[in-house]
Amino acid sequence: MKVRIDEVTERSARVLIEGVEPAFANAIRRCLIADLPKLAIDDVEFHLGPIRAEDGKEAESIAPLFDEIVAHRLGLIPLPTDPELFVPRQTCPACGGEGCPNCTVIYSLNKRGPCTVYSGDLEPIGDAKFKPVDPNIPIVKLGEGQALLVYATAQLGYGREHAKWQATQAVGYKYRPVVKVDNRKMDPEKFPVEVCPVRILHHREGKVAVEPEEDCILCMGCVEAAKENGWDGAFDVYGDPARILFHFETDGSMSAKTAVLETLAILETKFSTLADQATALE
Ligand SMILES: [Zn+2]
Repeated sequence: MKVRIDEVTERSARVLIEGVEPAFANAIRRCLIADLPKLAIDDVEFHLGPIRAEDGKEAESIAPLFDEIVAHRLGLIPLPTDPELFVPRQTCPACGGEGCPNCTVIYSLNKRGPCTVYSGDLEPIGDAKFKPVDPNIPIVKLGEGQALLVYATAQLGYGREHAKWQATQAVGYKYRPVVKVDNRKMDPEKFPVEVCPVRILHHREGKVAVEPEEDCILCMGCVEAAKENGWDGAFDVYGDPARILFHFETDGSMSAKTAVLETLAILETKFSTLADQATALE
């Protein structure tokens, strides 16, 4: 197996993996989406009744959206997650699921209208490093006399349970496209290179050149165009299943590097568990 890393940023990665089966890439894809633990708000407590502010003004704890919708929106805010730091609440050895600093983070939100409540208004109780990674996600608009006082509890979960616990998006792979051009089988200067929707065909020195080949979307537009002109076989376009272009993004809750390392560790554990069980067979 050969791996070429094309691009890794804080929130995305693009790699070329050679010499593997598509099933291998798919195992990583599924694990990135469904099995990677992530922190998200799961329990929201709304203060009911009037809220008196320091200036003596009274606001009603009410928002234009239903509490359920506000709670849902809070749940979807990406929270910084260190998979090494937390344990799932249900199996927390320290508290047995009651909720403790090993398995939960508690946030408070206290805003009075008129204003827009943003994700950045969520204040972690305790360590400030748990502040939401993107502070500008709008939650709800409060009018005059309206207020929101909320305590929210975040815990680890998995993408297979709810999308709010899915740390990665746009996880996918494609076979590495191969575009073979036989300039002898056509009149390259007359070939309409603009048929390519991703613009990777170019007229160069009396020939048709492909650059960059990896951007091909296998639309077969060039093959069809050659056929229409009676230049059968001038283009050979296919995806190579032994070379896989893999890419994904994270929502910011963890870095792309952390996501991959964590995913590989999860897969390793799964397979070694399977191996142990298989060894125990008579
Ligand atoms: Zn706990």
